[in-house]
Amino acid sequence: MDTTYLVIIITAVVILITVILAIVLLAAVRKVNKGNSVIKLKESEVEWKELKCPKCQKVMDTGLSLAGRGIIWREKIEKKPGLFSNIGSVLENTISLNVLPALNISWRCSSCKLVILDNSKMVKIKSS
Ligand SMILES: [Zn+2]
Repeated sequence: MDTTYLVIIITAVVILITVILAIVLLAAVRKVNKGNSVIKLKESEVEWKELKCPKCQKVMDTGLSLAGRGIIWREKIEKKPGLFSNIGSVLENTISLNVLPALNISWRCSSCKLVILDNSKMVKIKSS
C-alpha cells in the first residue's frame, strides 16, 4: 500500500476520534449546565442580603463566587472527597462550564477567611 494512503487514513481516523471526543465533551458540559438554575439579572436587580459572620458576628462582604469545577461537599461522617471525586458528586448550582460562567451570590468575612455561598441558584449579571 502506498504510504500516502496510509497517512490519509491515519489522519482521517485521528480527525474522527477528535470529533467524537469533542461531541462527548460537549454533551457532558451541556448535561452539567442543564441542571443548573441560572437567573439572568441586571446588577440593580440583585438582592444583596446582609449576613453576619457566624464566627465573629461582623457584617460580611457581599459578592459573587465562581466555584470552578464545582463544590464537592460531604458530611463529616462520609468518606472525604478526594482525587477521584467526580463531577457527579458536585453540589447543584456550583459548576458552570460556559465561556461566560454563571456565578453564585456569596458572602465573605475577610477577618475569619470564611465564605458562605448560596447554591440555591446561579446568576448571570448584566452590567446596568
Ligand atoms: Zn468573621
